Amino acid sequence: MSDCLFCRIVSGEIPATVVAETETTLAFRDIAPQAPTHVVLVPKTHSANAAELAADPPGLADLFVVAAKIAQEEGIAESGYRLLFNTGADAGQTVFHAHLHLLGGKRMGPLA
Ligand code: 5GP
Ligand code: ZN
Repeated sequence: MSDCLFCRIVSGEIPATVVAETETTLAFRDIAPQAPTHVVLVPKTHSANAAELAADPPGLADLFVVAAKIAQEEGIAESGYRLLFNTGADAGQTVFHAHLHLLGGKRMGPLA
């Protein structure tokens, strides 16, 4: 049993509202949404952050492919959306399993 929250969601041990799944990616709704659409996309295999995930280019690319599909399905592909990896303390990363945030459905402000 892993003590990583997102590994536990991937394994099904902790429930989540899954919106998409591929061989290497799981996408589910954020428990504390910051926008009308707020989906978290994770690689099914553990990497601590985006820098580690860069060692797996196909896995990294799949996150973006799935994010684009979800944006279409959620009706935000035209209005726009934000894709974001928080990496490390200064960025506010709280879960140390790499994840891509997909945010949309409202007009967002500057990044930092
Ligand atoms: P970070 O701050 O590390 O970039 O993002 C972690 C995200 O995971 C946060 O937006 C937080 O709301 C979300 N989160 C934390 N715990 C859970 C959980 O148990 N289920 C889901 N679906 N999201 C979670
Ligand atoms: Zn993990």
